[in-house]
Amino acid sequence: MSNTSAIEYLSRQQELEDEARKLMPWDPKSCSYEKGALRQQVFACRTHGNIGVCYSCSIQCHTSCDIVELFTKRNFTCDCGTDKDQSKSENQQFKCQLRKNREPDVASLQNVYGHNFRGLFCSCNQEYDPDSSAVMLQCVLGSECNEDWYHDYCIVGKPKQEVKKNGDEETLADGMPPLDSFDAFICWKCVSKYEYYFQRLMSHPLAQDIIAHRIQHGSSEEKDVSHSVKKRPIDDGGNEYSLTLKHGYSKKLAKIKETLDKETDKLYKFLNDLVPFLVNDDPVYEEPEDTATEADDMVALLLQNCMQREHAVAGISAFNTLKTRLSEYLKPFAESGKVVSGEDINNFFKENDEK
Ligand SMILES: [Zn+2]
Ligand SMILES: [Zn+2]
Ligand SMILES: [Zn+2]
Ligand SMILES: [Zn+2]
Ligand SMILES: [Zn+2]
Repeated sequence: MSNTSAIEYLSRQQELEDEARKLMPWDPKSCSYEKGALRQQVFACRTHGNIGVCYSCSIQCHTSCDIVELFTKRNFTCDCGTDKDQSKSENQQFKCQLRKNREPDVASLQNVYGHNFRGLFCSCNQEYDPDSSAVMLQCVLGSECNEDWYHDYCIVGKPKQEVKKNGDEETLADGMPPLDSFDAFICWKCVSKYEYYFQRLMSHPLAQDIIAHRIQHGSSEEKDVSHSVKKRPIDDGGNEYSLTLKHGYSKKLAKIKETLDKETDKLYKFLNDLVPFLVNDDPVYEEPEDTATEADDMVALLLQNCMQREHAVAGISAFNTLKTRLSEYLKPFAESGKVVSGEDINNFFKENDEK
């Protein structure tokens, strides 16, 4: 195998693996408590005292509770079955149905609880309205707002638009940049808190590769940074603004970080200590351990099979055909929640060979 084809081959393997993972039925079998503080999907349980529980616990232990989906939070430890979990039915045999602990476990002291845990979102302090046409964005920085979610109209500082959802159509508030023109959002509260650092970033020569938009909070003007960074003074006298970041911002931030003096530069400390997750990959924890093993087995099998069929799977189009067939094959498993077995995978390759 030449170098190029080896690299191509590896990247195809990666693609196949990602595809398989996406389609894997995800069994809510294990609680993430023992893994400690993670960036993970968190569900608030309002029945048990506004605690936050992991994905599996939300399904297995809090089935009849008033649950609010919070999407991801960083550094969060599951509260299910801990001394924070105010479960009312004391006759329940286990505190957490998955960990099967009989005595409450110690709750994490690191967990931070914003108003999201009471089911409230945004600066307007509202419950999530599934019928609203408003787009909501989560703040990627989050230290001031606890990774809150914001309505587009609240981001630009306008009153609530009484528009209800029209099919799948989403209408953005005036002043909001198109959603596909940026990758991440930082709310005006978090920008204000670290204004010194954001001003330094915005005056950096690489700023145009990092910052997509500057969105005034309370004014209809949305400033494109490519025009504003150098010519306009950034400080508008207490005017608050949010920022959006371009795709690939992490790599550019890492580049800036490299040029700074570790010992003396405050911007270095900001990037390194306060927002390392903006500079480095910060994946969301997903697979509970048992399922990960099954998924790993499956992927290993898939790859083994591909390896043997290296000659057959040559060429991107052949690979894409295989990928499409694999998706079709795995779809019923994903839909029914059935776990894929090694035999199923062998059957797939058998069927595929016959085609
Ligand atoms: Zn849990
Ligand atoms: Zn509950
Ligand atoms: Zn639980
Ligand atoms: Zn709002
Ligand atoms: Zn924020």
